[in-house]
Amino acid sequence: MTIGTAGHVDHGKTALVGALTGVETDRLKAERERGISIELGYAPLTLASGRRVSVIDVPGHERFVRTMVAGATGVDAFLMTVAADDGVMPQTREHAAVLRALDVRQGVVAVTKVDVADPARALAEAAELLPGVAAFPVSARSGEGVEELRAGLEGVVEGLAPRAAAGEAAVLHVDRAFTIKGAGTVVTGTLWSGEIRRGAELVLLARGLRVRVRGVQVHDEPRERAQAGQRVAVNLAGLGVREVARGDVLAGVGAEVRATHVIDAALEFGEHREREPEHGTRVAVHHGTRESAARLHRLGGRFWQIRLERALIAGAGDRLVIRRLAPPDTLGGGVVLDPGARRHPTSNEVIVRLTRLHRGQPALPPEEPRPGRSPAAATGPPPLSPAAAGLEARLREAWFAPPGEADLDSGALAELRRAGRAVRVGRSLHFHPDALEEIERRVAEVIGREGEITLGRLRDELATSRRFAQALLEHFDGEKVTLRRADDSRVLRRR
Ligand code: GDP
Ligand code: MG
Repeated sequence: MTIGTAGHVDHGKTALVGALTGVETDRLKAERERGISIELGYAPLTLASGRRVSVIDVPGHERFVRTMVAGATGVDAFLMTVAADDGVMPQTREHAAVLRALDVRQGVVAVTKVDVADPARALAEAAELLPGVAAFPVSARSGEGVEELRAGLEGVVEGLAPRAAAGEAAVLHVDRAFTIKGAGTVVTGTLWSGEIRRGAELVLLARGLRVRVRGVQVHDEPRERAQAGQRVAVNLAGLGVREVARGDVLAGVGAEVRATHVIDAALEFGEHREREPEHGTRVAVHHGTRESAARLHRLGGRFWQIRLERALIAGAGDRLVIRRLAPPDTLGGGVVLDPGARRHPTSNEVIVRLTRLHRGQPALPPEEPRPGRSPAAATGPPPLSPAAAGLEARLREAWFAPPGEADLDSGALAELRRAGRAVRVGRSLHFHPDALEEIERRVAEVIGREGEITLGRLRDELATSRRFAQALLEHFDGEKVTLRRADDSRVLRRR
């Protein structure tokens, strides 16, 4: 079982995880210097009965809600902190909304810092936000209430049904990938379903790479196998660290997940639909450890079609979080009904089919296109031509080292750029948007860790040439991701 922290920045999540587990989850230099969590942290928690569960410590800062979602996805229960001296704050509310969207309903509230303030007001506010959830006044500093909280967590964990039936295929959404000297590439994540055994053959999606499990660890201890619900580190043979990143999925043979750009889903936007966006609104969709911008097309009732700009790797029944792009906030969420939907307008047949899927009944045969209506008559753009689809695959395959423009079919390239499936960088380079996003993530990570990034540092990070690194940095300057300093190094721009 895995418990995820939640709560506003500075409300004592990391300190409380430390008091419960003895683990300091803020590992990065920037985290320790700034005193805030940026990345996900992990710690094993021993309950009074001796049972061990995992805790994921998430960042509370508003800029890192996407990281919070990636951590909260796949957890079984929450540990929501509310500081006694501050009460319920914006990210307390937003994290509660994210947990609701992910259908994580079980958990406890810790009203923290009771050594500095009376907890009464925070307790009342928490009871209003999360009715019926047990609340524990605690102090990480004095230790007061920590054992009562541990017992409360045990009560919640005992009440949870074990996850995933035996025999299901493994699905693990990667939240970190790194190398360990002498071992090679390691990925970590919460195992959503199935089990991962040493020696097993798995597939890494979206790219479809075959990999073999060289070793499995659960909380730094080697195991023969890991099971659904556990926090897992998997050492993979035959895979370079550059070939895998947060957002990828490690899947067992036969796992029912797929890379998709169109999803039919049942969504909820507040109890009274008060946060429901309009038809066609562009939003951010978070799923697993990935996210993508998307347009929401209303199909009727609670059913929506989600048209994604970047592939998600999803299966029926997976949870989604829907966030507003600007100003960022969580609007709602729901469940994937058809991860491989076609672009279609709504119709009675569509609603009947989705209603059946939502009830867990088998879908009727998919709706046939009506005579006289080509797929292009639906509101979405037409599918890519074979030449453009081939070029997209080539750009994806090339990843950090795309071919020069002179090598590419200019018609297919123009089509791909119009579809947002190729991005021009500098005068003549084109990256796949997923590769570019991964590069951006790494740039931010290096800056977060080291305070800045230089041309040489990015070249080494990507194992690329100076020319590519230069073009990329100028691209990110132009996109207002980075800011160029007088000495040519880059820092992140503040929002
Ligand atoms: P997070 O952002 O929610 O992870 O919060 P942290 O755990 O980093 O704590 C934020 C600040 O509050 C730090 O300076 C902590 O030392 C302080 N803090 C955390 N818990 C307590 C507590 O129980 N009592 C007091 N007095 N300070 C606390
Ligand atoms: Mg923290």
